[in-house]
Amino acid sequence: MPRPIEAIVHPAALAHNLARARAAAPDSRLWAVVKANAYGHGIERAFEGLRSADGFALLDLAEAERVRACGWRGPILLLEGCFEPRDLELCSTLNLWHVVHAAEQIDWLAAHKTQQPHRVFLKLNSGMNRLGFAPAAFRGAWVRLNQLPQVDEISLITHFSDADGPRGIAHQLAVFETTTEDLPGERSLSNSAAILRHGLRNDWVRAGILSYGSAPDFPAHDIRHWDLQPAMTLRSRIIAVQQLQAGDSVGYGSSYTAKQSQRIGVVACGYADGYPRHCGSGSPVLVDGARTGTLGRVSMDMLALDLNGLPYAGVGSEVTLWGNGPGGTRLAIDEVAAAAGTIGYELMCALAPRVPVRVGD
Ligand SMILES: *Cc1c(COP(=O)(O)O)cnc(C)c1O
Repeated sequence: MPRPIEAIVHPAALAHNLARARAAAPDSRLWAVVKANAYGHGIERAFEGLRSADGFALLDLAEAERVRACGWRGPILLLEGCFEPRDLELCSTLNLWHVVHAAEQIDWLAAHKTQQPHRVFLKLNSGMNRLGFAPAAFRGAWVRLNQLPQVDEISLITHFSDADGPRGIAHQLAVFETTTEDLPGERSLSNSAAILRHGLRNDWVRAGILSYGSAPDFPAHDIRHWDLQPAMTLRSRIIAVQQLQAGDSVGYGSSYTAKQSQRIGVVACGYADGYPRHCGSGSPVLVDGARTGTLGRVSMDMLALDLNGLPYAGVGSEVTLWGNGPGGTRLAIDEVAAAAGTIGYELMCALAPRVPVRVGD
């Protein structure tokens, strides 16, 4: 028998979550953001659940080929554009729309031989300071692109640094609006947090993390607040039970010591499966749907949890590390991420290759 750990991707949850984005931005077209292998879910596994999107947005050309191989004929957007001139060939062959964020990418386009002019999204650096033309250079870039026979429609795109936090989006929105005021073209501004938290609609909104059932602004709001469902479950089983006496400790570094008699379960899940080692004692976990906490350090292949108060749990009991538990129970990935000092994005993207994944309810 293989180790009892598995991950399950839930297509119905993906579809539900995407519908939430639609409801929040009803007159916008919707990019399903599937970079990083659909945030760790697997592009092919996530595709069915996300196919009601108007397009797929990602970064990696190999991932764009995989979306086409799923049978998708609609728009695909490369969020970082081309990395070298010959990427433009694949953009032509696969009909990929691409971001243009730097002058070099315009040079490459100008030298590119294509039958079909390309749809491009010109990126404004409105304050994030990662990619995009500075406001003073934006119009010049637009004029240059507009003169190229290689370019078809030009759309305008920017990205928010603080849509999930207290600073908000107003300062960047003001820069975008001033800079692009009299330029034609479709607009794409909103990520998940801007869609849900700020209700910001534009021609093309970009739904990433919300589709996967993680609240972009946790802990201010959780998935229940936004009516999102976990799109990934990580689960395993208890493979051993130990009875501790007061003073006994658990695992490497003896970082947890029992204060009283305590029954603990040992679970076949560790950091080599993608469960974060930064989770300290007390991180939330479900045993047969009942909530308890981890104990001591997470090791490579195992972790321990508290079974006091769970007398019926034992070897073979189902353990939900995140996602859906038995009987309609649920543990949001955001809660586990918070216990590890990180965000849901990182946990889902870090699901380890050794964990078997299947598509299921
Ligand atoms: C990843 C990404 C998104 C999606 O962000 P979420 O917070 O996951 O919704 C949107 N736009 C760009 C440019 C991105 O890189």
